[in-house]
Amino acid sequence: MKLTFVFALLAASAQAFAPQRAARISPLTQQFEGRTSAELGTPCEDECALESFPNLPESVHPGVLSGKAMMDLLNHAKENGYAIPAVNCVTSSSINACLEAARKNDSPIIIQLSSGGSQFYGGKGLDNSNYRAAIAGAVSAAFHTRTMAEQYGVPVILHTDHCAKKLLPWVDGLLSASERYFKTHGEPLFSSHMIDLSEEPIEENIEICQEYLKRMSKLGMLLEMELGITGGEEDGVDNSDRPIDELYSKPEEIYQVYEALTPISDMFSVAAAFGNVHGVYSPGNVKLEPKILDRAQTYISEKLGDKAPADKKPVMFVFHGGSGSDVSDIQEAIGYGVIKMNIDTDTQWSYWEGIKNFEEKYHDYLQSQIGNPDGPDKPNKKYYDPRECLRAAEVNTVKRLEMSFGDLKCKNILGLGEVSDAKNILGPRRGGLPV
Ligand SMILES: [Zn+2]
Repeated sequence: MKLTFVFALLAASAQAFAPQRAARISPLTQQFEGRTSAELGTPCEDECALESFPNLPESVHPGVLSGKAMMDLLNHAKENGYAIPAVNCVTSSSINACLEAARKNDSPIIIQLSSGGSQFYGGKGLDNSNYRAAIAGAVSAAFHTRTMAEQYGVPVILHTDHCAKKLLPWVDGLLSASERYFKTHGEPLFSSHMIDLSEEPIEENIEICQEYLKRMSKLGMLLEMELGITGGEEDGVDNSDRPIDELYSKPEEIYQVYEALTPISDMFSVAAAFGNVHGVYSPGNVKLEPKILDRAQTYISEKLGDKAPADKKPVMFVFHGGSGSDVSDIQEAIGYGVIKMNIDTDTQWSYWEGIKNFEEKYHDYLQSQIGNPDGPDKPNKKYYDPRECLRAAEVNTVKRLEMSFGDLKCKNILGLGEVSDAKNILGPRRGGLPV
């Protein structure tokens, strides 16, 4: 049977069950239960209409996940030895590139925004006093992601990246938005947040994380916390000259976190330090030691005794600062319970490189509105139309992400098979350019 036929069957059977779930207001809670497409009246066909995916737990559906569906997906990743790429996005264009890449690789994806990225999403011309631009920008990105993730038919975890102590009002604002959304939808607006208090003493780090986890667990949200220090520099935090031993987390500390958070909720993950560095630097400065994660899992499992999970991997780990790492180190870390790997630097480059190559290819057509090598009166509109260079950036990013999905063993996870090329695409008025 051809893959496309199998897919058509899947979609048809899913559609048969879809209408009951599509738009429903629970008479008991007055909560809206269902898809964003049903709420907004956007079309929901093919992948969008799927209730679940052939190869994933039943709770996992197209669109943004939270609560049980999110945990089922993350546990599926841990059990099956893959990690989900978590890509930092700053515009709807970068979010769309992620969704396109996820569908192409038949995989889930994590879309995340930093505070700076959230502010940029809202627009750098907007005043950011009290983080209002960063809050509004992230909320706007959340609604875009919720709407479009369903259209691409992929499961998405919607996350925010590093939130240091001074940025807590930003996440407070986002949690308020999720609490409000929960009242009418029975789910949070975001799936998860990272609280990064690795700069603070460990006691304070844990105490504040406990408070946030209490608030988030009521909404079915996951908390990612950071322990130890990720080297390098990102979002204005510079750890490039910290002493080497601070760049490696200790099993005792990870256990301390596990013990403090588990009684509140099991919906947390730990970004532990094992020699990872933000950004791309010349190799050889800091050595990646994935075995630190293995030692921590073994240490905690021994402490837990009979209560340890069967896989002896009680902790969900997150890999920050993996750009430029050896694939063998990445895959070794996945074997020790890494379920998410952050990707920022490499997709920043791929997005820019797409624009750079576009400019190189069409340079002589991009110097003035009129006049190019084909003649002094020839218009250049179709070359400088911003859709052209932005699409080139997206295409190059989708290509780069395919490599990430491969490195993280996160390909062909959903079971939908290959995607057919998009049809009926509107191009610039005079037709799109080959990129
Ligand atoms: Zn990070």
